[in-house]
Amino acid sequence: MVQKMNIEKVIALAKRTGIIFPSFEIYGGVSGFYDYGPIGKKIKEKIIQSWKKFFLDENIFEIETSLIMPQIVLKASGHVDSFVDPLTQCKKCKKFFRADQLIEEKLGVFVEGLSIEDLSKIIKENNLRCPECNGELSEVRLFNLMFKTQIGPLEKDVGYLRPETAQGIFLNFKNVYRAMRAKLPFGVAQIGKSFRNEISPRKWLIRLREFSQMEIEFFFNPKEKKFEKFEEVKDIEIPIYLAKEQEKKSEKIVKIKASEAVKKGIILNEYLAYFLAKEFVWIKSLGIPEEAIRFREIRKEELPHYSKQNFDLEIKFDFGWKEVVGNAYRGDHDLKAHSKFSKKDLTIFENEKILPHVVEPSFGIERLFYAILLYSYREGKDRGWEWLDLPEQLSPYDFAVFPLMKKDGLREKALEIFNFLKQKGFSVYFDDSGSIGKRYARMDEIGVKYCITIDYQTLEDNTVTIRDRNTREQKRIKIEDIEKI
Ligand code: AMP
Repeated sequence: MVQKMNIEKVIALAKRTGIIFPSFEIYGGVSGFYDYGPIGKKIKEKIIQSWKKFFLDENIFEIETSLIMPQIVLKASGHVDSFVDPLTQCKKCKKFFRADQLIEEKLGVFVEGLSIEDLSKIIKENNLRCPECNGELSEVRLFNLMFKTQIGPLEKDVGYLRPETAQGIFLNFKNVYRAMRAKLPFGVAQIGKSFRNEISPRKWLIRLREFSQMEIEFFFNPKEKKFEKFEEVKDIEIPIYLAKEQEKKSEKIVKIKASEAVKKGIILNEYLAYFLAKEFVWIKSLGIPEEAIRFREIRKEELPHYSKQNFDLEIKFDFGWKEVVGNAYRGDHDLKAHSKFSKKDLTIFENEKILPHVVEPSFGIERLFYAILLYSYREGKDRGWEWLDLPEQLSPYDFAVFPLMKKDGLREKALEIFNFLKQKGFSVYFDDSGSIGKRYARMDEIGVKYCITIDYQTLEDNTVTIRDRNTREQKRIKIEDIEKI
């Protein structure tokens, strides 16, 4: 399916070319933090643009809310009490590990939902040791993943960095409803940073302490079973990894039409099925092969108490399958909880009083970024350098413009074309140093699809050569035809 996946090479390329840098590197770095370089920032923006174009419509409104939240908000949402991971520490080297992950990796058993006493017992009975130094492991305790701070000078005014973008949406549900004169069903979206003090960040961009999410809370009347827009996607076949197959330890995937999945009760409602189908189409458009995508039905024991049904969109990475988009049918849990804690009525009136239900697709940008780089990476044995086969919509620049030489007016002409394309709304890169071959190689490495070279003939007849990254073919075209590409 996938060419041999060499993530080390991808990471090295990403650093060398300005895609991803380790944060605080000159001070030795801190695990779980990465920075986007100039090229990475461009690609990330393209991912976001593509997502907005695909998922946001006239009934989904994007907002941007505070990153720091007072304690009461996260008390209401349940994060203060239950956003915890089980922690164990090596008594010898003092390193921390997530107890559930350690057990699952070593013993291959599911342990979600088990108490800390049970986890401690499993560690003891199976004589699990520190993966780093083989030291003895401590009793398991719970660790809250939120970064705590204080708001203002008083220590008692506890605040937290938000652990998800969703809560800001719930708090503004009624504001958006009123301001936008919305009608059910409608969605509110948010793109931005979330913060989780992960016990053991790892696998490059997979488990970070600061990461970016794109979330939609889609509100609907639970009595309204028909969702008009579902018609658009009902025939899309989606790959589902059913809970019962997971229990049998089988890897079997069923491919089923979205409409069939709802009819058979595999997916609880058309709203959730709508997003799953759309996600499948969108993720494929980013260059992830179909066979590397599946929706894992979250087993009952794994479900958060408020959730009625969850499907994780998982992608097959070099190390195995991993969640990239979490899809949850949260019912009215959040609005109800915030109504209770704030003592504000969050019901709306549409012929009757309604507390809407919500489905939530939650995308992690960095995991997606990892998958995109992994699947677009080409060793380039044929051309002598590595390159990224990024889908055109994610190319960090739409065009790169090169003057063949700096002299004889070629540089000026190239700048003229650079500005012309910029004014047309394209993102354009300009490079006039080194041989043309080297300049092509540099653009291939960051996945730029088209390079335009200005030479002596350009000055005579206003044509340029345009080179395609994948085929490496060069064609002569008129300047005014560039934008048609
Ligand atoms: P969750 O709210 O845990 O379902 O997370 C939603 C999405 O955010 C996941 O599918 C991931 O893509 C992403 N995500 C969650 N935690 C992390 C993390 N520690 N580092 C990077 N991405 C994360």
